Parts: sequence; C-alpha cells; structure tokens
Amino acid sequence: MLNIPFENTHLRLGEAFYVKTRPTPVAQPKFVIFNVELAEQLGLGGAGLDSPEGLAMFSGNLVPPGAEPVAMAYAGHQFGHFNQQLGDGRALLLGEIVTPDGMRHDIQLKGSGPTAFSRRGDGRSALGPVLREYLVSEAMAALGVPTTRALAAVTTGEDVVRMKPLPGAILTRIATSYVRVGTFQYFAFRGDKRAVQKLANYVIRRNYPDVLNTEHNPYIAFLAAVIERQAALIARWMQLGFIHGVMNTDNMSVAGETIDFGPCAFMDGFNQQQVYSSIDRNGRYAYGNQPAIGKWNLARLSETLLPLLAENSADAIVIAQDLLHIYQEKYEYYWLSGMRKKIGLFVARETDKPLIEKLLSIMDKQQADFSLTFHYLSQLSGGQNGSDNKIRSLFNQSEDFDRWLAEWRVRLTEDVLSDDRRQQKMQAINPVCIPRNHQIEAAIRAAEEQGDFSPFRELHTVLTNPYKLQLGKERYMQSPRTEEIVHQTFCGT
Ligand code: AMP
Ligand code: MG
Repeated sequence: MLNIPFENTHLRLGEAFYVKTRPTPVAQPKFVIFNVELAEQLGLGGAGLDSPEGLAMFSGNLVPPGAEPVAMAYAGHQFGHFNQQLGDGRALLLGEIVTPDGMRHDIQLKGSGPTAFSRRGDGRSALGPVLREYLVSEAMAALGVPTTRALAAVTTGEDVVRMKPLPGAILTRIATSYVRVGTFQYFAFRGDKRAVQKLANYVIRRNYPDVLNTEHNPYIAFLAAVIERQAALIARWMQLGFIHGVMNTDNMSVAGETIDFGPCAFMDGFNQQQVYSSIDRNGRYAYGNQPAIGKWNLARLSETLLPLLAENSADAIVIAQDLLHIYQEKYEYYWLSGMRKKIGLFVARETDKPLIEKLLSIMDKQQADFSLTFHYLSQLSGGQNGSDNKIRSLFNQSEDFDRWLAEWRVRLTEDVLSDDRRQQKMQAINPVCIPRNHQIEAAIRAAEEQGDFSPFRELHTVLTNPYKLQLGKERYMQSPRTEEIVHQTFCGT
C-alpha cells in the first residue's frame, strides 16, 4: 500500500486555476530508475514507492490514495509571442507533500497523457527527453543550483510518434512550486485581478513567507524577492556554462528553480553566442542573452502585479521599473562574486571584473572548453613553477592567455589564501564533470536503440558527484572529439 501524505492546497485556489484530470494508463510500465536518496530527503522513504504500486503510480496506472491530480492553467510568451493559453499539456500535478524541513513540494508526472491543455499534442513524452531531464536536473542539484528534481523515470511499453516511433516514458518530478511567470500572465490577461492577488498570496505563503514580515506593501517585497532569486539563479547558470534553451515565460519558475529541461545544454567550447536548441533560430536564448532575457521575463511578471504594487498606476510603474533596475545590480553582484571565486580570488578588488572579462574573451576567441578551463585553473600553483601545459593546450598556447595567466598570478599575491587552501576552495566550486551533450546523447541512444541503460546509469552516478573525479571515470571530464560534437538539441515535444 502506498502511503503518501498528499495535500492539495492548489485545489483551494479555485477551478479557474486547473482542470481535474486522471492520467491515462499505459500498457507495460517498467522502472528505469527510482531516486532512493531523494525519496528519503522528501520524507517518503517509508512510503512504499519502490514497489509494484509505486511503479503503477509513476506510470499513471494508479492514482494513489489522497492524490487529486490536476493539469494547471498557464499562459506565456514563447519566443516573445504571447500565447494566452498553454497549461500542463503533458503533465499532471498529483499533489503536494510537506517535507521534513517544512517545505511544501509538488509531485508532478510528465508524459502521463492528454489534458484539456494538450492542444494538438499527445500528452506523452519520449524516452530521450525523460532521460535528459533526469540527468540534467539531478546534475544541477548536485552542482548546488536551485532546480526541480527527478524522483523516478519509467518506460511505458508504448511508442510515441515523433519524427518516427520512439519508446515512451514518464518522468516524476518535484518542485517547491510549479507556478510560473506564465501562471500570473494567464489571469492578468483575462483581467482577473482577484485571481492574480490570490495566486500572489499563495506563492508568498508557500515560497516567500519572509515577505509577510514587511511593514510595507508585501507585493512589492514579493516581486523584489522573486527578482533577486532569479538574478542569483541565472548567475549560477552563467558560471557553469549552462544554456536553458527555452526561457519562455511559461518556463520560468516563480519559486526561482531551474525548470523545464527541454533543449538545454552545458557548453563545451566557450562561445557567448552559443545556441543549441533547434527551434531557437534567432538566438534569442543564446548563452550570453540569458541575463537580459531573465529581466525581460521579470518585466512581464511585474506587469501582471502592477495593480497590487500601488493604487495609482503611474506609481506602480515607477516601483516596478526601480525593481527591474535592481535586478541588473543583483545579477552583477551574484555573477561577479561567483566568478571571482571561480578564479580563486577571495578578497574583492576593483580590477577583478576586467580580469574575469578578459579571460572570458580569450576563452571565447580560442573556444576553450568552459568547464576544463576553470577545473585546470583550480589545479595551478600561484608560483611560476607549476606545469601550465594542460591549461595552455585548451588555449592553443595563445600568447594572450599566457599574458593573462601572468596577470592572474600577480593578482593572486594580493589575496590571502595559501596555494593549497585556494586550490581546495576553487575545486569545490569548479566542477570536473558536467552533463556534456555528447555523453547525454550516447546514453539516450544506447537506451533507445538497444534498451541498454548502463551508460545512462554510469553517467548519472558520475554526475551526482560533479566536483570530484571518480577513479576510472576520466573520460567523463573530457570535451567531445570532433565527430562527437552535438550541434543541436531538441525539445521533448
Ligand atoms: P514546453 O516548450 O515544452 O515548455 O511546452 C510548451 C507547451 O506545450 C506546454 O503547454 C506543454 O504542456 C505543451 N506540450 C509540449 N509537448 C506536448 C505534448 N507532447 N502533448 C501535449 N502538450 C504538449
Ligand atoms: Mg514548459
């Protein structure tokens, strides 16, 4: 018997917010993977999930006691164009649980069949995107970046038809909330100010309880807090060479977590303009555009909250503009303080930003591998006597880079840490293994074509410990050989 203490506070928001929907059963479900550690962290260690009933729940064949599944309504700007109704077209919220740390979490199935929001889609997911989301979201968590999590992946025993028939799968994923910028837009577009306020109150109580302590207007404090979390999140992405790929407003979480892993990718060779997504033809969501797109999306959120920010709309606009201006400052702050640590500087100096920018510009010119650059840098000694060959080879022995290294070493002398201590600290924030595209693709291909999940499992294990190279797993830190390079990634649709 499954024993999950489901709560369904979403249902109390009212019927405009969702459509009650049962998952559509599948033919022959099988576990691909069940996340035992996460289940324990969530307080579900004794819930009986790793069982035939658990499998039935994760595949949509059983709605467990206490769950009241709903498809949530939302709208969103997709590549800049507003779509007034998107919603959970292939996902269902099973319910919420309150974890031992007191945090409320949503449990969602993705790929569980059609809903009222499916439009022309089949409500299903292919195995490839499920494995990709499992790997990347769990890697994000291990890297210490706010993210939704993956609790289980199952195959359905049914094919889904995309360009060709592909094995179907369902992902069970967890978030501290699945409310999106697009959820606010859905109600604002309909002129339903009461619903916008209700939603804001809900998210505040759930994800931003500190906001209630303010003596001033709580909605201003709420918007400021959402903006700050998003600035911090995007700074983390930038520091890891992560490209989300579809930063549509419906794919931006109001709780500040990385959500909706579609054509996302970690960069190998550094390129500010890098785009992998096959549908991002104009590079709107290119690596270097992400901070500005974050601000654009937050401007859309601010518009929905204007009536709550001040009585007079001119005043509300000024307040929103000020907060968006603060986004810029917060982003800069998080970016610079993180980048400073990445290059081993722990005392702030005015010259740090130009030093970091110079490195990035040389990396861009030489297409130096993003993660390996920082990983190798974290092994170098501050004295000239260390071996620089490994890092210099990433830069094709460029003289610009040699000059940068010399400048960096001079700058290190103004810092306080010993070589050992600095290297330790740098290695704790510069990952040696990231989910590289070519490895994800190889894991997906083996699973799809041969039903062989061992590459997926091995990659997953390596990525759960990204700051430490496990013995015998050196190949996972390497950038792809020319013939292995993945140039495009695709959405799950
Ligand atoms: P995404 O770009 O993946 O975030 O999805 C955008 C919208 O398309 C959301 O409303 C999804 O629920 C919907 N969608 C994507 N794939 C499917 C599918 N296979 N079936 C139904 N709806 C889908
Ligand atoms: Mg989405």
